[in-house]
Amino acid sequence: MPEYLTSAPNNWKCRLVLAAVPRDGSPYEDEFTLPLDRPIDYWDQIYTPLSELKVRVTAFRSEGRVVAEVAVETEVEAPCARCLEPARSRVKGDLRYIFSLRRDEQLREKNEGAQDGDEEIILLDSWEDEIDLAQMVWETFITALPPAILCSPDCRGLCPTCGANLNEGPCSCKTEGGDPRFEVLRKFMENQ
Ligand SMILES: [Zn+2]
Ligand SMILES: [Zn+2]
Repeated sequence: MPEYLTSAPNNWKCRLVLAAVPRDGSPYEDEFTLPLDRPIDYWDQIYTPLSELKVRVTAFRSEGRVVAEVAVETEVEAPCARCLEPARSRVKGDLRYIFSLRRDEQLREKNEGAQDGDEEIILLDSWEDEIDLAQMVWETFITALPPAILCSPDCRGLCPTCGANLNEGPCSCKTEGGDPRFEVLRKFMENQ
C-alpha cells in the first residue's frame, strides 16, 4: 500500500444509482462517509486527515441530463506555513458535475450551435444503472484543501537567521526592526 493517497482510493464506494433520481426534476440527496486512511500528498504538501470524509451528493434531472452536486467536509493537519508546527484546518468544498449522453449532446450542438463551454459535461455512451462518483468526490476534496495552513492567524513564524520558532519568544539574533515576515522577503531578495 503506498504511503500517501494521491488519487481516489479503491475502497471508496460512492455510486449514484440513477433509478433513485426522480424523473420530475426534484432532487435526490444522499449522505455518507468515506475512509481517509493515509496522509494525502497534493502539490508536495502532506495533509494528515483527522476524520473521515463527509460527503453529500445532491442529484437532479434537467433537460435529459443528470446534475450531481458533490459537497465534502473533513479536517486535516499539515505543517504551519510559517513555523512548520502541526496546524489544523477544516476542509469544506463543493463542485457540480453534469452527466449527459454523447448522442444527446451531439444533437444539441447541431441544433443550438457550440456551447459557451463554461460548464463541463461528462459524456456517457449510455445510461448505466449507476454512476461511480469516486473521481468526482476526490477532485472536490483535493480542490478544497487549503494551500497554506497557519497554526494561528498571528503566527510569528521562524527567525530567518537562526530558525528559532518566534512563537516561543524572541531569539538572540540582532533585529533590524520591522515585521519578521518582511525579513523573510529581504533574505529572499538578497539570494536572488
Ligand atoms: Zn505557525
Ligand atoms: Zn534568530
